[in-house]
Amino acid sequence: MRKRMIAGNWKMNKTYSEGVVLAQGLADELKDGTGDVDVVVCPPAVDLKGVSEVIEQTSAPFALGAQNVYWEESGAYTGETAPSMLEAVGATHCIIGHSERRDYFGETDEDVNKKAKALMAHGIVPISCCGESLEVREAGKHVEFVVDQIKKDTEGLEITDPSKYVIAYEPIWAIGTGKTATADDAQEVCGAIRATLVEVFGEEIASGIRVLYGGSAKPENIAGFLEKEDVDGALVGGASLKADSFAAMVKSA
Ligand code: 13P
Repeated sequence: MRKRMIAGNWKMNKTYSEGVVLAQGLADELKDGTGDVDVVVCPPAVDLKGVSEVIEQTSAPFALGAQNVYWEESGAYTGETAPSMLEAVGATHCIIGHSERRDYFGETDEDVNKKAKALMAHGIVPISCCGESLEVREAGKHVEFVVDQIKKDTEGLEITDPSKYVIAYEPIWAIGTGKTATADDAQEVCGAIRATLVEVFGEEIASGIRVLYGGSAKPENIAGFLEKEDVDGALVGGASLKADSFAAMVKSA
């Protein structure tokens, strides 16, 4: 019922020309299609146009996503990017609320909520991230913490098509550390996210929203996560920087 999604977050990696090469490599790896899986690549902002051209020229079976957006339409916001600017270069998805942005750049749940609304007004699919720190996990408060994030991040959102809003659960302690959550850990929180979505949007919408797992996901462990009822795909960091690893994850999804 929910189509699986594998999204690659390149983070601050790959110059323009390196990004084009990676996108071409991925287009080649996936030339026979992606089966029944939605694939998204999220390069740095300055690489978006180049990757967009690769997708167009090769008819690559993946969509383009950004890693951040600002909620205003235009104006004196030095260094920021408006939703219309993402749209103009062909981005159809955008990561918001990544823990690295929350930790290093002070992004709050209120910001994440405004970003989601701004993106959705332009028909861009938010990939809205949530997840707890090691400290919160060790205190046994991870479910409560993530549920609170979800309630704040989704406040006042109007979702009519649940395929157009995606959540990524990324426990911070599993990001880039090689330490993965177990599939059961992921299901515990993703299940709680689904239950919260039922409260907020009702059963029908909630059952159509994809919830991805992220945090040291790689070809060797992805299948275990995807077996879980409420895990609908993955948001992949490190393993998305190599065309063959990322393609292998898409193929096993
Ligand atoms: P890694 O896959 O490198 O752990 O990164 C996960 C992540 O933060 C994706 O957004």
